[in-house]
Amino acid sequence: MRLRRRVHQDPGRDLSPAASVADIAAVRAAIVAARGAGEDVPIGAVVLAPDGTPLASARNAREELGDPTAHAEILALRAASKIYGDGWRLEGCTLAVTLEPCTMCAGALVMARVAKVVFGAWEPKTGAVGSLWDVVRDRRLSHRAEVVGGVLEAECAALLEDFFHRQRGNRTG
Ligand SMILES: [Zn+2]
Repeated sequence: MRLRRRVHQDPGRDLSPAASVADIAAVRAAIVAARGAGEDVPIGAVVLAPDGTPLASARNAREELGDPTAHAEILALRAASKIYGDGWRLEGCTLAVTLEPCTMCAGALVMARVAKVVFGAWEPKTGAVGSLWDVVRDRRLSHRAEVVGGVLEAECAALLEDFFHRQRGNRTG
């Protein structure tokens, strides 16, 4: 994780509009969701209904569940679709997450018809919402989401940096 060093190279950054008060509140809720991740990398996500009502939140649980697909975004989408919409469509909903989504999660966001994606830290190594790819705004897709990136970026990056710093500390004793 060299989030801070490479952060200025992200091409998606220029495409991102300024965050609204609601965007910032949503990422703040995702930060809260990320906490308590134990052995898992602390990444949190929340799904909000079109009127802003929180529907679901989740944190990354790949280690805990032994599931390569148990990213925060996937778990939050699954939980939200159980209580909102027609069973799987999350039309008009917003997903906020502390880290730029990967290709799998970006694909799932498109499949769920999420209207807006708000995220915290940019992920130059695997990011699929503006950094390496721009899956949710690909012009070849019929459904494209609005994107606001880099919201509370320093706080979101610090969550990860603290985690990896602690891990390195544990490893060296
Ligand atoms: Zn992911």
